[in-house]
Amino acid sequence: MPLRPASASDLLIDGKQVAGSGSTFDIVNPATEEIVGQAADATAEDMSAAIAAARNAFDTTDWSRDHALRARFLRQLRDALLAHADEFREITVAEVGCPVFLTHGPQLEGPITDLGYFADLAETYEWTRDLGEAKPMGLKNRRELRAEAAGVVGAITPWNFPHQINFAKIGPALAAGCTVVLKPAPDTPWCAALVGKVIAEETDFPPGVINIVTSSDHALGAQLATDPRVDIVSFTGSTATGKKVMAAASESLKKVFLELGGKSAFIVLDDADLASACSMAAFAVVTHAGQGCAITTRLLVPRSKLDEATAITRDSLAGLAAGDPTDSGTICGPVISAAQRQRVESYIELARSEGGTIEIGGGRPAGRDRGFFVEPTLISGLDNTSRVAQEEVFGPVLVIIPHDGDDDAIRIANDSPYGLSGQVWGTDEDRINKVVNGVRTGTMAINGGIWYSADVPFGGYKQSGIGREMGVAGFEEYLETKAVARPA
Ligand code: NAD
Repeated sequence: MPLRPASASDLLIDGKQVAGSGSTFDIVNPATEEIVGQAADATAEDMSAAIAAARNAFDTTDWSRDHALRARFLRQLRDALLAHADEFREITVAEVGCPVFLTHGPQLEGPITDLGYFADLAETYEWTRDLGEAKPMGLKNRRELRAEAAGVVGAITPWNFPHQINFAKIGPALAAGCTVVLKPAPDTPWCAALVGKVIAEETDFPPGVINIVTSSDHALGAQLATDPRVDIVSFTGSTATGKKVMAAASESLKKVFLELGGKSAFIVLDDADLASACSMAAFAVVTHAGQGCAITTRLLVPRSKLDEATAITRDSLAGLAAGDPTDSGTICGPVISAAQRQRVESYIELARSEGGTIEIGGGRPAGRDRGFFVEPTLISGLDNTSRVAQEEVFGPVLVIIPHDGDDDAIRIANDSPYGLSGQVWGTDEDRINKVVNGVRTGTMAINGGIWYSADVPFGGYKQSGIGREMGVAGFEEYLETKAVARPA
């Protein structure tokens, strides 16, 4: 059965593929501006039916207690999806505009394969822990802790790495025994809906344990945050929306899990290999046109080497022009939409008006009159208080800022409302460790290290979020702890 639907993609509600009670909406290829297809445009009524199905599956079946069954179905899903990898690759590049090379990693095959990690966790996790005997109030008791699934999960996701983020929620939530309603971003409905098609047609998941509801209406996300039948909201997106989700969820006092924005620093110490560091910083900021929450978008370099660092970074960016995402050599594709391009361009304009110098880029690539492309851009001449250094641009835009030594670099890195990720380059181990320990972020890379992996918890400090995704910590976000005691 081919994945690409003949008409609009369907919703997955209570184990069935349904068109829903709304109409459909268009999916636009960001690289060509052509309409790729349509997705079902769910209504509040459809969302309510999906929540009811998830609630029913959680409350009336053995799903949350049968760990082996869940592991089996997660592996079944992984294998079914991998069998469609090439179809998904084509659809993902067309819908997301992501460079095809990324689909061999975090844009597709990585997160599908990682479903196996969560299946393993369902089987190997210590669901019951003996706490031994104690004598509270003088009476001997034997105590144990039982981990239990937290309930119905409302998963709300963005468009930039749709498979990675959808599976980093679906995988651990289902492995933990929760049931799920997934609402993907309006820009990337197929990446979720076609997973729903595979689930319905090629797996044995019981009805209602996973529901997928696509919509052009953000209000359906808000509905998940407020509906009292949902126990946890697992949200990835912008900090502004995350704040709204948290406020909405407080009405019914849901557990809230938030992965939000970032403005991460790439710190170059004065004993670092400047050429390697600056080339890596350039490569990082253009990858997927800078549309990654953990991408390092502030390059902090020793003041004495500012001119040299600026020249190296500028030359590196010159070799990383934005191009066709279907080309295997492309690192920087388009941004997701005309609105996103407008947002990126307005930040470049703002940098100019704040007195910044555009060292390279700053416009649209010549010869590309279709597609939402932005030139890789380097901004100098601004300090960390400028808006372009403080706010998330979400485009291929790097700000280079001088620092006056290691402590100053740590101070600048932390002078941000965000705390998601970062990178330090240097030689002296003690100095590197001081920076790693001093920067308040959820992940740090040393000299180009790669922390991204299914077993590594990812998340942010400060306004970059609450909680961790992936790893054992990410799995435990979907659990409750029950303490049990009996007289011994
Ligand atoms: P967004 O916040 O606009 O939307 C994210 C999701 O929230 C979408 O599904 C949207 O429909 C839904 N939504 C919108 N308003 C809502 C509301 N009031 N209540 C509930 N749901 C609502 O984000 P985006 O533009 O799709 O994605 C880009 C942002 O995501 C960036 O800020 C980026 O940093 C962030 N992001 C963070 C991480 C992370 O793990 N920290 C990962 C990827 C993206």
